[in-house]
Amino acid sequence: MVHAVVIGAGIVGAAAAVELLRDGHRVTILDPGDPGGEQAASYGNGTLLNPSSVIPMSSPGLWRKVPGWLADPLGPLAIRWTYLPRLLPWLSRFLRAGATEARMAATAQALQPLLADAPERHRRLAEEAGVGELITRQGVLFVFPTRADFEAEALAWRLRRENGVHWLELSDDELRQREPTLSRRYTFGVLVEENGQCRDPGAYVAALVQHAVGLGARLLRDKAIGFRLEGTGLRAVRTTVGEIEADRAVIAAGARSHLLAAEVGDRVPLETERGYHAVIAEPGIAPRYPLMPSDGKMACVMTPQGLRLAGQVELAGLEAAPNWRRAGVLRDFARRVFPDLPADLPVDKVKVWMGHRPSTPDGLPCIGPASGCPDVVHAFGHGHVGLTAGAATARLVADLVGGRPPSIQLAPYSAARFRR
Ligand SMILES: Cc1cc2nc3c(=O)[nH]c(=O)nc-3n(C[C@H](O)[C@H](O)[C@H](O)COP(=O)(O)OP(=O)(O)OC[C@H]3O[C@@H](n4cnc5c(N)ncnc54)[C@H](O)[C@@H]3O)c2cc1C
Repeated sequence: MVHAVVIGAGIVGAAAAVELLRDGHRVTILDPGDPGGEQAASYGNGTLLNPSSVIPMSSPGLWRKVPGWLADPLGPLAIRWTYLPRLLPWLSRFLRAGATEARMAATAQALQPLLADAPERHRRLAEEAGVGELITRQGVLFVFPTRADFEAEALAWRLRRENGVHWLELSDDELRQREPTLSRRYTFGVLVEENGQCRDPGAYVAALVQHAVGLGARLLRDKAIGFRLEGTGLRAVRTTVGEIEADRAVIAAGARSHLLAAEVGDRVPLETERGYHAVIAEPGIAPRYPLMPSDGKMACVMTPQGLRLAGQVELAGLEAAPNWRRAGVLRDFARRVFPDLPADLPVDKVKVWMGHRPSTPDGLPCIGPASGCPDVVHAFGHGHVGLTAGAATARLVADLVGGRPPSIQLAPYSAARFRR
């Protein structure tokens, strides 16, 4: 048995804590914020548990779109001008990561094992924590104005198929029968039945941490600032209020993880892909499926709080103030998806949020021992798929801490890849 300090109580840290406790370790969880609270990306995301999310953001020819990202601050992907100089090294790596089909295919293949069984893995974790009802598996509906719009994404869907994703194609009529709330603008649909949803990710993470505490974990509301090492061995995690002696540490601090990784020998180019949501309370409609409209680049999902519209990518760093007009774009687009939504939503019926996706430029997380101290395990950088991949990542963390051969090949997730 070792004492492991888990830094960060988002989905990755919370699930890792449970897995470590199950293996019989002593666990301390460190987070200055509330577990599952609004400071974490894990709170406000699109709620989707999609094994089909193997497609990285970067694709061939994407560099042509960069001027548009700079010109339109409300577009689905936007770069703030003032942030561009700092962003350039990450951006150039990002564009190169998807510059060829072969690179995209390699990324998809590397993501596949982290995502494949996600709904089932999360169902088991949620049941263990007493909130099994939060995980549902009714499939996710991708909707397109026309079949041609689906065909325009042929590369992405081919890569999904090559990675074991199956789907049902739905005609106009079938779409209407499956999802009566949907606008008639959409005439073609794809139902990925194996995809799932976590209806309330904030509540789920909070329940996992509460479960971990019930199993004996200590929860401290402090911020980690570094490590005390002896040679390459870990002795303690340093926090703003002192040290916590530790045999192992897990860096699961989301978009701030690179600051800690640098302390143990790994300079990881981690960016925040800022995303937004708007939640419409009592929307007056109840879509049967979680929906992804191809022209909206957003998730439209029912949650206990109402209809959540989540998406957008804004590259503007960790500190800049949110641009709430972006959440307004999501809210307004929802009426194009669901025409029966009320036209004038009272302000108090719409709650907005901004959060930080922890994103590496190549779309793959960092999972594995730190270069300068193998007692410290990286578990961050999951970008757009961290909720989904959190469960498999947590298991890998427990394998590494327990000295077991990991069930998934870790080479693609090594932080050392950024030294090249
Ligand atoms: C709009 C949006 C939509 C998304 N949709 C989906 C989706 O549908 N499906 C999906 O799989 N993923 C989705 N994602 C991505 C997903 O939310 C993230 O990848 C995931 O939540 C990251 O989890 P995490 O545990 O690594 O980080 P976080 O959830 O951000 O948690 C990190 C925690 O670390 C704490 N912390 C930070 N620094 C320190 C420190 N120094 N010491 C101690 N604690 C610290 C923070 O307070 C925070 O609580 C979406 C993200 C966004 C923004």
